[in-house]
Amino acid sequence: MTDEERLAKNKRIREQGRLTREKRKSQICRVYRVKIDISHLNEAQKLQLKMIFVEAKWLYNDVLTFLTNNEINDYDTTTQIVHGLDKDRQPVMHELEYISSQMRQSVLQGLKNNMKGLASLKEHNHKIGRLRYKSDYASINLQQYLVTYRFYDERHIGIQGFKTRISIKGAKQFWNIPNIEYANAKLLNLPDGYYLAITTYCDNGGEKRKYKPEIGIDMGIKTTITTSEGKKYKVLIEESERLKKCQRLVARRKKSSSNRYRAVKLLRCEYQKVDSRKQDMANKIIHELLEHERVYMQDENLKGWHKGLFGRTVQHSALGLIKHKLMMNERVIVLSANEPTTKYCPVCGKLKKDITLADRVYECTCGYREDRDIHAARNMMLLSKKDTCGTQGINAFGENVRRHELQDSCCGLEELGSPHFYKWE
Ligand SMILES: [Zn+2]
Repeated sequence: MTDEERLAKNKRIREQGRLTREKRKSQICRVYRVKIDISHLNEAQKLQLKMIFVEAKWLYNDVLTFLTNNEINDYDTTTQIVHGLDKDRQPVMHELEYISSQMRQSVLQGLKNNMKGLASLKEHNHKIGRLRYKSDYASINLQQYLVTYRFYDERHIGIQGFKTRISIKGAKQFWNIPNIEYANAKLLNLPDGYYLAITTYCDNGGEKRKYKPEIGIDMGIKTTITTSEGKKYKVLIEESERLKKCQRLVARRKKSSSNRYRAVKLLRCEYQKVDSRKQDMANKIIHELLEHERVYMQDENLKGWHKGLFGRTVQHSALGLIKHKLMMNERVIVLSANEPTTKYCPVCGKLKKDITLADRVYECTCGYREDRDIHAARNMMLLSKKDTCGTQGINAFGENVRRHELQDSCCGLEELGSPHFYKWE
């Protein structure tokens, strides 16, 4: 290809990208997951699927070694041989047979993204470690529909590098949606099988959605979410008996034995089930909350709770996940942790300084009385309308909340560290 042809091609790609981005603005993006039906695969396909991920891991680790003395852009992605270590840490050479060219590039792109992520963390003065060698590779990006992957029909897909079709389950979810467009997909290697997570775009129908009025939500330490309308959601997920059993099993197995390897596999599978339940719960709650036009929440310090007495409970609750997912939505307004949502009395406007975590009911001298969580959720809507709310270092009352006062106005969370702390129930 001559230089002129190359430039013309790049221009074409750029133009196409711009048009696509323009089109996407009026579309809804959804990711659907289909499972690869392993029982309908032949031996060659099973081996190939397995080896794609193994080779991706080899490639990733090889690039990481390459990076110690070189730049990432100098890496030759067409290489057939990669170097690595075997389980006795002796150098070995692996031949790449199964992984396709676009998959290779996706591995490299993944590494680049990781580096970018670390760099930006460093820029924000976070402590960062180095990229580590992987022992598993879990997700490969299939960049282009009709190139890296394609649908033959509702039950069959093709993936670049595979000579025959692959059976899948679960395309029913999106198969009948009119004008659906497929973007990239991710081939996932999860503990309970292989999946394909497909990004799709479809028309939003042009109709403007009708929302319910605004709502405030309070995230409680007792792993509940309380709305300003008085509804309470429980977000705790119980650890299953089987999970505990699997943990004990792993603990009893000899290290680096194949029995332990099998036990770890079982444990991972079980963790994934817990995680799926968590995701499901989070999605359902978020769907309900986002039926409101605006959602107000406070950026509470879940990490601080984690360290305190409630570590175990917070770990198995979907609270962090819900918070994270909500914060990504543009209709959600997040108040800083410095806003005294619990202390403020909406009737007389006083701040009640001596409220502790033990008080479940807010009582003011003016006679106002309300459940503490509902009270806080309602206050979020009120406080967010004050002028100084959201200003750096100042809360809704114009108080300077840099450093020390920050903790003080944070609903008494600092008490968590104290040994004489009041214990729930
Ligand atoms: Zn009052």
